[in-house]
Amino acid sequence: MSVQTFEVIVIGGGAAGLSASLILGRSRRKVFIIDANEPRNKVTRESHGFLSRDGIQPLEFKKICIEQLKKYPNIQYKRDRVEYVEKDGSIFRVHTLEGDVYISKKIIFATGMHDALPSIKGLKDVYGKSVYPCPYCDGWERKDEPLAVFGNGDWLMDYVKMIYHWSPDLMVFTNGPTKLSNEQKHELLEHDVRLVETPIEELQSSDGELEKVVVSTGIEYKRSGGFLMDTGEIQASSIPSRLGIEMNEMGGYITNNIGETNIKGVYVIGDAKNAFSGLIKAASEGYELGAKMNAEMIFETW
Ligand SMILES: Cc1cc2nc3c(=O)[nH]c(=O)nc-3n(C[C@H](O)[C@H](O)[C@H](O)COP(=O)(O)OP(=O)(O)OC[C@H]3O[C@@H](n4cnc5c(N)ncnc54)[C@H](O)[C@@H]3O)c2cc1C
Repeated sequence: MSVQTFEVIVIGGGAAGLSASLILGRSRRKVFIIDANEPRNKVTRESHGFLSRDGIQPLEFKKICIEQLKKYPNIQYKRDRVEYVEKDGSIFRVHTLEGDVYISKKIIFATGMHDALPSIKGLKDVYGKSVYPCPYCDGWERKDEPLAVFGNGDWLMDYVKMIYHWSPDLMVFTNGPTKLSNEQKHELLEHDVRLVETPIEELQSSDGELEKVVVSTGIEYKRSGGFLMDTGEIQASSIPSRLGIEMNEMGGYITNNIGETNIKGVYVIGDAKNAFSGLIKAASEGYELGAKMNAEMIFETW
């Protein structure tokens, strides 16, 4: 068992954690990244919307980031999983699955979210390949295709309007009785959007590409892709919660605008803070927090 001390420990090496590490490393801080390497978007083939990296594979994106951090000898990256964090006064002891303990006064949680998908047969095969959560990430690639929206509940109508913008050839599958009002149903009809309330039997696909939505009566609807409104997202790590950091109604940990929590020395950024940030926002939060933390450390020790 090794015990090492760092100025900042970053838990989670996605866009948020790696970006914070880069700016802290460039600020001559001794930084340790512990990363289980399971980014939320690893199920998808291409990431979009990150200027200069549009269309890149998620793991290739990470590889480039980690490669560039190697230039800084004061930044270390370790593939491991943090099991728990002990607070001892102003010191945090970070315990990993491999049995190591790392010590720091400052911890950044950039642990992201996990999608616990609804139990629809065949959904896992298409999630991230032809059925996605976010139109800004993948709407362009599916524009004007025959699409399905899977969802129900309060936000459905707004979500449908969004997806309709990318493709008006739309069917809405609520997988059971809808909560839409008669007026909203009428609006769908007016836009030629068909509503199917019959429970879904399965999604049929080939190599991740959605082909048909089959409902319990046996009727099949041909669709080549779709969007999933509720991915069942939950925090990938409950450690901040166990330290006493509360969550907001979106399921993100509560922080101020730059990621400071109610516990001095503990910060949360990226999806773990916002529920869904997208790569470029996660990276920008890492940059902003890293710069702020460095300035604080400078002023503390002046
Ligand atoms: C299907 C899908 C497609 C998407 N497509 C896009 C897209 O095209 N463009 C876009 O901008 N965004 C996209 N996103 C959103 C994007 O994936 C997230 O917003 C982004 O990954 C958030 O970055 P993050 O650094 O906060 O978290 P993540 O990238 O999820 O990284 C978190 C890291 O923390 C690690 N971790 C968690 N717990 C621990 C622990 N206890 N110990 C050690 N490590 C831990 C994880 O293993 C992971 O490596 C997509 C999301 C999904 C689900």
